Amino acid sequence: MSCVFCDIVAGEAPAIRIYEDAEYLAFLDIRPFAKGHTLVIPKAHTVDLTDTPPDTVAGLARIGQRIARAARHSGLHADGNNIAINDGKAAFQTVFHIHLHVLPRRSGDKLAFAKNMVLRRDPDREESGRLLREALAELDKTP
Ligand code: 5GP
Ligand code: ZN
Repeated sequence: MSCVFCDIVAGEAPAIRIYEDAEYLAFLDIRPFAKGHTLVIPKAHTVDLTDTPPDTVAGLARIGQRIARAARHSGLHADGNNIAINDGKAAFQTVFHIHLHVLPRRSGDKLAFAKNMVLRRDPDREESGRLLREALAELDKTP
């Protein structure tokens, strides 16, 4: 069965990587709702909340929280974040390899965010990725 996120894990599909360890990978969404929109996935393929072990879901949340913190401290200047898992087709899941969305938000960004929900693009995703990686590295210095 082909899975684009498994292809990314295997390095067979491109992605702007933000974070990686033995079990998890985080990378920028290809059609972002906001600058720095990140997806956190387990490297082992599971579909949704029905087949993903609770510890794995906890791991997604742990890494998502760290990326959300980094987004606040980063050059993206996030003032907050939306964190979400779309669990199943009925909940608008479109890629059936479980993932947690981290959406950096700015105070008062309602109109810009709504516009980007239609456009879904960041003209400089490489720079957004660099800013998040840089902020994560700073967090690592102060655990
Ligand atoms: P879902 O609707 O399943 O919660 O979200 C899937 C997300 O994956 C979407 O926001 C979509 O833009 C993103 N996506 C789909 N294909 C790719 C891809 O090949 N690379 C990356 N980086 N993101 C993808
Ligand atoms: Zn997969």
